Amino acid sequence: MSRVLIIGCGGVATVAISKCCQVSEVFEEIMIASRTKSKCDALAAKLAPKTKTKITTASVDADNVDELVSLIKSYGPDLVMNIALPYQDLSIMDACLECGVNYMDTANYEPENTNDPAWRAIYEKRCKELGFSAYFDYSWQWNYAKKFEEKGLTALLGSGFDPGVTQSYCAYAKKHEFDSIDTIDILDCNGGDNGCAFATNFNPEINLREVSAPGSYWENGKWIEIPAMSIKREYDFDMVGKKDMYLLHHEEIESLAKNIPECKRIRFFMTFGQSYLDHMRCLENVGMLSTTPVMFEGKEIVPIQFLKTLLPDPASLGPKTKGKTNIGCIFTGKKDGKDKTWYIYNVCDHEESYREVGSQAISYTTGVPAMCGALMMLTGKWTTPGVHTVEEFDPDPFIEALDKYGLPKTISTNPILVE
Ligand code: NDP
Repeated sequence: MSRVLIIGCGGVATVAISKCCQVSEVFEEIMIASRTKSKCDALAAKLAPKTKTKITTASVDADNVDELVSLIKSYGPDLVMNIALPYQDLSIMDACLECGVNYMDTANYEPENTNDPAWRAIYEKRCKELGFSAYFDYSWQWNYAKKFEEKGLTALLGSGFDPGVTQSYCAYAKKHEFDSIDTIDILDCNGGDNGCAFATNFNPEINLREVSAPGSYWENGKWIEIPAMSIKREYDFDMVGKKDMYLLHHEEIESLAKNIPECKRIRFFMTFGQSYLDHMRCLENVGMLSTTPVMFEGKEIVPIQFLKTLLPDPASLGPKTKGKTNIGCIFTGKKDGKDKTWYIYNVCDHEESYREVGSQAISYTTGVPAMCGALMMLTGKWTTPGVHTVEEFDPDPFIEALDKYGLPKTISTNPILVE
């Protein structure tokens, strides 16, 4: 019998929770806790008639460790699933350590206030030492490894699609398809159309921070950083068609470089339409993507947070979005002394996702792996104490679960490579 505390009730959490409720034999009891309890209550009321999972709800400010500790102690979960925002990763990890509970999330830590001098000093040192300037990196959460190990607890980081499934695809390639991997290209294509002039598919603040940052990739043992959106390629995606894609910095490159050390190059590409890029450039030029507070009519506001209030709520895009996503990894390397190329990906349909769980495919492709990662932890398949990313665990049961719960893999043994 498992009891799980799920923190967050936004776009991704809604899918993960709906999926947990389809696997009641494992997720026997869940508590949904978030800042706005009414959202948790509404979701619980919608799901309760269709599931055997016993659902309760609570309100919590996940930035507050004491509040988290008292909630965790009163509920007594086997696992805490953090599907709030990356800003809360460290406070929730602290609370899990204090309460002796396993932890998982879907995105690595970044601070809400990037002007905090204490954080900034460490960030600037890391930029110089490692050579990439994204606000997020794994060091903050890897620093918890010893504490989790000592308590015999497991923390699973980044169990979404990318990061998450993409790393499991890499572990699968390494285990079954290659003796050594030379290059990995992670391709994230959203061929969906939501009819809006400009909207983000997940939390706008996190999404816009990510895509407006300089791009970077791993090559021959070091990071190469490039101006944002300055490397562009066209790729013909199965079930979607030709799309322009741009090289971005992405968090899983950092852990893959560490865990597949023979790999000579790791890159991440994401597709964007011209309208999205034009809007983003314009918003950036006028300062609307800034995280630095400004005074407005006597009140301090953060431009990107104000922008978030104007943009469509990603959760509202479900009924409007048509088309498919195609996300996966292309590998080159060696098997039995011969050169080999191999591509593994998933295609997910926005309208089918909406019909099943009431969310578009971006939330779906993140929420399903969040549930599957939790499933691995709760069923004793992924239990190594410490702080781990997805590629460190056996990919087979995870990929089998993804196949079963809505994100089946497709394999191509003769893919077109990205130049
Ligand atoms: P949303 O903004 O839709 O939802 C965030 C949720 O977290 C809301 O329910 C919000 O509550 C809650 N929350 C925020 N701050 C707090 C707090 N201090 N205390 C308690 N609850 C809080 O985000 P998404 O669902 O789009 O994204 C969720 C996570 O998934 C993010 O970390 C994102 O980076 C990650 N992600 C990962 C992907 C992957 O492939 N790995 C892809 C896409 C997203 P309220 O509504 O009350 O504000």
